[in-house]
Amino acid sequence: MDRYEGYDAVVFDLDGTVVHLDVDWARVDEETADILESHGYRPTETAWGALDAADGDAAAAVTALLADHERRGAERSWRLPAADDLRALADAGRPTAVCSLNCEAAVRAALAEHGLTDAADAVVGRDTVGPRKPDPGPLLAALRRTDVPPERALFVGDSESDELTATRAGVDFAYVYPVTSA
Ligand SMILES: [Mg+2]
Repeated sequence: MDRYEGYDAVVFDLDGTVVHLDVDWARVDEETADILESHGYRPTETAWGALDAADGDAAAAVTALLADHERRGAERSWRLPAADDLRALADAGRPTAVCSLNCEAAVRAALAEHGLTDAADAVVGRDTVGPRKPDPGPLLAALRRTDVPPERALFVGDSESDELTATRAGVDFAYVYPVTSA
C-alpha cells in the first residue's frame, strides 16, 4: 500500500489490473471484421479499429457485439492482486475510481462479480463520456467525480496506453504489479 501514499485519489484500470476479463479477443476481432464486411466496409484488424471505422447500423452492431463479449467476460473474470488494493483503499475511506476501455456495463458487472461495487467511487468506461483511452477525457472525468484534481491523483494500469492516458491527463502513473500466474 506504500505506493499509494501521498495521493488523494487512486484510479485503477480494469482489465489486466483489477481483474482479468475472460474474453477471446481474437474471436471478437474476427466477428467485428465480419460485421464490417457484411455492411460493405473494408474489414479492420481489431475490434477497436472496427469501432472507429463503422457508422450507423454497422457501428451499432459492432458496439453491441463487443459489449456482449465484455459482459460475458466479466461474469467469468478472475481477480488480480490490485483488487485487494482497491478494496483496502476504499475501506480506509480513500477516494478511488475505475477508468476502463471496456464498456461501463461490463466494468460494473466485473466489479459486482468480485464484491467491489461499493469500492469504486466512480466508474468510467469507454461509453461513459465519449472518447476512450488514451484520450485523457475518461481519466479526467473519473477524477472530477471523486473531486480530486489530476495532480493529486495516481492512475494504476497495465498498458502503455494507460501510461499515455495518465501523461496526457497530468496524472502520475504506476504499473500494476506483475502477475506471475493466472
Ligand atoms: Mg488494462
